Amino acid sequence: MSSARTLDDLASALLSGSVRVIDLSAPLGPETPVIQLPPQIGKNTPPVKVHSISRYDADGPYWAWNWLELGEHTGTHFDAPRHWISGKDYPDGATDRIPVKSFVAPANVIDRSKEAAANADYLLTVDSIRAWEKEHGEIEPGGWVLLRTDWYKRNGSSDTFLNADANGPHSPGPTAEAITYLISKGVIGWGSETVGTDAGSAGRMNPPFPAHTLMHQANRYGLASLCHLDQLPAKGAVLIAAPLKFVEGTGSPVRALALVPN
Ligand code: MN
Repeated sequence: MSSARTLDDLASALLSGSVRVIDLSAPLGPETPVIQLPPQIGKNTPPVKVHSISRYDADGPYWAWNWLELGEHTGTHFDAPRHWISGKDYPDGATDRIPVKSFVAPANVIDRSKEAAANADYLLTVDSIRAWEKEHGEIEPGGWVLLRTDWYKRNGSSDTFLNADANGPHSPGPTAEAITYLISKGVIGWGSETVGTDAGSAGRMNPPFPAHTLMHQANRYGLASLCHLDQLPAKGAVLIAAPLKFVEGTGSPVRALALVPN
């Protein structure tokens, strides 16, 4: 099939609804939960602020517009390789220099929602990924791997979403070995429904924060606070997630979308 024909077919499928567009993003605003690092680890991102410039008033009689105060890593967002010290030297590792091809790619969705419901500290292992591949097919190079946990249903309240107690945050994520395995399969990135790409317990792993340390060390990407992964098939969706072209950016909020067969 010619590529022009493929695009024609896609356009028709979008118009007819036989391919649907799913919104994978959380609402972005002052209520958006932001990660809370312990003070001994470092500084935090402030909450989103929306500043009005005018609202059809004396400051601009016919128009409304705002200016925003927000962190690069806020809400549903993209992690660029240079977000982490292990990926800081890649010439194409900032948001303005990542090849745009990476922003449109196939998605593998690993559903571990039952496991995460039973155990907030659930960790995805290599064995679990291999079991998924046996059922759904091999993870091929060039795609994303997204961990479905239904954690997005907690997004909206910082308390339940961050889920922290005196021992720190409790939220699901990958083991270091799982990330190493996915890199060996040639994935371009790792995505999760939690506030960041790593598990709540990841600060105590070896290496600490493996989804950040290892993925970015390999010049791969991250997506955090994804929503509605429960509407995606295990394989067959196309993920569209383009960070803003921030000069030298380490990440960016995104409107993440998925194209899925109806
Ligand atoms: Mn981030």
